[in-house]
Amino acid sequence: MHQIGCVYTVASIKNPAILLDTMSSRMRVTKGHSGNRRSHHALTAPRLSQCSNCNEYHLRHNVCKECGFYKGKQIIAKKTKAETAEVVEA
Ligand SMILES: [Zn+2]
Repeated sequence: MHQIGCVYTVASIKNPAILLDTMSSRMRVTKGHSGNRRSHHALTAPRLSQCSNCNEYHLRHNVCKECGFYKGKQIIAKKTKAETAEVVEA
């Protein structure tokens, strides 16, 4: 008559309030449960390296945003201050 793995008792079937209490308590997420889940949420700092051309820090495997160099080569032609001023005036 008794089913294996059933958590409901005769008292819980007769009194649904006990049944609801059992269900909600089993769904409850404890502090430890939240902590275990959040143990993988930590952020890591970006990997930075110094530019070989201007010594400015840039993301690894990325072009330097200051001078446009990557692996000692000019990849992006950066405008000088004088050229930028001409564009503003025009
Ligand atoms: Zn640079």
